[in-house]
Amino acid sequence: MQSPEILYMVVPCYNEQEVLRETAEQLKTKYTALISSGLISSESRIVFVNDGSSDQTWGIIRELHSKEPTLFSGIDLAHNSGHQNAVLAGLMTVKDICDMCITMDADLQDDINTIDEMVKKYYEGNQVVYGVRSARDTDTFFKKSTAEGFYKFMKVMGADVVYNHADFRLMSKRVLQELANFKEVNLFLRGMVPLIGFQNCKVYYERHERAAGESKYPLKRMLAFAVNGITSFSTKPLKLITALGLIMSAVSVVAFIWAFITKIAGFTEHGWSSTMCSIWLIGGLQLFCLGIIGEYIGKIYAEVKQRPRYIIAEFLNETDKKEP
Ligand code: UDP
Ligand code: MG
Repeated sequence: MQSPEILYMVVPCYNEQEVLRETAEQLKTKYTALISSGLISSESRIVFVNDGSSDQTWGIIRELHSKEPTLFSGIDLAHNSGHQNAVLAGLMTVKDICDMCITMDADLQDDINTIDEMVKKYYEGNQVVYGVRSARDTDTFFKKSTAEGFYKFMKVMGADVVYNHADFRLMSKRVLQELANFKEVNLFLRGMVPLIGFQNCKVYYERHERAAGESKYPLKRMLAFAVNGITSFSTKPLKLITALGLIMSAVSVVAFIWAFITKIAGFTEHGWSSTMCSIWLIGGLQLFCLGIIGEYIGKIYAEVKQRPRYIIAEFLNETDKKEP
């Protein structure tokens, strides 16, 4: 087997004082086992990203680091930037010092025992390993159905995401370096990573209940997250306006004929036909024109993002210099 590679864990933490020590303890046990079995290098680290917490979170992270500097690291963000930004901050900080990296929430909802399998899949050549929830038994019916609806709706609206995968995933150094070229401000990592490509696979795990503390994603933030995901990923809503405009314009033709027939037949009040026709025609035209403007806005939106237009998977090149 090849020499073990360096695994960094990136764990975003926002007001997680109740659960952090337990998470650190469990991760430590896992790391010790992984290092002693020769699966990962002893230079591997666990990085806690403090996302502007107002409780003792950063204090705990500092304490963990000072007790075990060769295991725990910490990144302190200047202010609360949100889960996605905190994860990205961690990833971009470690991208040059690790070989692979796993992102995981601080609340122990993701199964730590899945890490072994993720690392093995990485050694098999996968650049991205998605952690996918196999069951949602621990979630309430409400959370379960809203979350499932979320994935389906996202797909219909043009933002392709891996079903039942949140942000528990392994990425190789290579993928992190490509991710660095995505300059967008409205982050939606679970949409961005599939865009990068490369060989990838899924591992399944059972999601637990939060070990302690409470969710920072109530329904309101979940909805905001979904809207952000759709609007950061797709211009489909704009296209729907154009389509709707076209349909309304077509309906207006039918309305014209109908109004004309009823007028000829003499069933109408004075002025009814012209009012009817104008409502449909103008409504249709307005929506259609809005849609056209939307198409341009969609283009501007894509340009402003300045996403990489391609990602080179491999560069075959022979130079005079021979590899040692
Ligand atoms: N989180 C963060 N910044 C925030 C909100 C949340 O870093 O502004 C972290 C939080 O500490 C946790 C992860 O993101 O590690 C996921 O949050 P949470 O567990 O509350 O979400 P849920 O699992 O309920 O959707
Ligand atoms: Mg959680």
